[in-house]
Amino acid sequence: MANSAKTNTPPTGVGLLGLGVVGSAVANAISQRHRSVDPAVSLNVVAAVVRDASRKRDVTIDSSAISTNLETVIANPEVGIVVELMGGVDPAFGYITSALKAGQHVVTANKEVMAKHGSELLATAAENNVCLYYEASVAGGIPIIGPLMNDLTANKIQSVRGIINGTTNFILTKMAHEGADFNDVLAEAQALGYAESDPTADVDGFDALYKISVLARLAFHTEVPVDVIHREGIREVHAKDFRYASELGYTIKLLAVAQANADSGLLARVHPALIPLDVPMASVNGVLNAVEVEGDLVGPLWFQGPGAGPNPTASAVMGDVLRIAKGATNDGGSSSVPESFAIASMSDHECQYYIRLTASDRPGVLASVARVLGDADISINSVLQKDTDTENGHADLVIMTHPALENNMQSAVRSIKELDTVLQLDSLLRVETYGDRS
Ligand code: NAP
Repeated sequence: MANSAKTNTPPTGVGLLGLGVVGSAVANAISQRHRSVDPAVSLNVVAAVVRDASRKRDVTIDSSAISTNLETVIANPEVGIVVELMGGVDPAFGYITSALKAGQHVVTANKEVMAKHGSELLATAAENNVCLYYEASVAGGIPIIGPLMNDLTANKIQSVRGIINGTTNFILTKMAHEGADFNDVLAEAQALGYAESDPTADVDGFDALYKISVLARLAFHTEVPVDVIHREGIREVHAKDFRYASELGYTIKLLAVAQANADSGLLARVHPALIPLDVPMASVNGVLNAVEVEGDLVGPLWFQGPGAGPNPTASAVMGDVLRIAKGATNDGGSSSVPESFAIASMSDHECQYYIRLTASDRPGVLASVARVLGDADISINSVLQKDTDTENGHADLVIMTHPALENNMQSAVRSIKELDTVLQLDSLLRVETYGDRS
């Protein structure tokens, strides 16, 4: 067990696992500025573990403290707080577990490990009377875990809904404002360092999925395994869809949502959605993140800010580190009465849909599509016919439906694809419901 946990003196020695983008910012915050913010606390970086110790780094800690030797951090009696900033599950999960078992407090920014193994890690922390804090794992610099864990515990949370992936929001904002295609904007995002060379985690919705899993567990006291969360990324969103959505009064964002009620249970979903242009979420642009929380006592709350970047993320990490350095202890979790929900199925989700088809430009086409939708109990709200290609006899048909069940929509989609008047079903997007309008 680490010394400080034995003596009950708040720990001051920090061990870093990872010294990359966030790790370097955290190391610099500890060595350069935390005393000017809080003179009562005197932290120091005892050791940092990396993959390649010979790499040149822009950090103000002594190079002799940087190594590949895990033992300089885990179970080192000088280290009371382990800050895990490596990312991924393996080896982070094992390292965090070992630190907690050794009586070291842990702070992590790792959404994937907290989504996949959070309950187990939190239980290990409780068994060992140490803290496991993870504010930076969701929405970077925005304080959202702390409010859900502390300030909002008197509420029954009804929904948590957000734009929690900055890369996709940057891409979708550019597509909306410049009419650019997905692949061109992705290449630009990669050149600017906003997207990884392998963009899968962001553009296919995994990153947002991990984050909504973490938020849903906290908000609804319910385990939401990552494989029960509905996930769609943004690769299938086209420049045309922004144009048509805007004519209809909407924009398109990648939303992560967890909503619960006693009857239907808890549904978590990540997908691109049409958002009315006059709600605040529609104006969250570029790499910004935003989270909207609705509680039964407090009503709707709105959090917005930088969802990534070295300093905003270090702000969240350091907040957790300083809480521990000021004597925070593991109190066994929140004091509210846990209410656990059954997991709802996406097939029972109800919303309006936006459908874009390439269809033959001839009489009877709309009637045939309307018949298929009607047979699936779906009625049409409005129709636009656009971009008629007289030479080839094609046109874009954009249909907005009234609210319909996902299950019915998926069966209608299968039938629409079989119609000989429909050349292609190009887009199927859900419309997010806000208040009593949609
Ligand atoms: P990064 O720049 O890739 O840094 C990762 C660090 O971990 C590097 O120093 C690397 O060592 C080290 N590392 C990786 N695997 C290791 C292993 N097996 N053993 C020892 N060291 C290992 O990542 P990052 O952007 O700082 O992200 C760190 C964490 O913060 C992730 O969980 C991420 O999701 C989270 N986060 C990041 C941001 C952001 O804006 N970047 C925002 C919020 C949350 P080398 O330097 O030797 O390669």
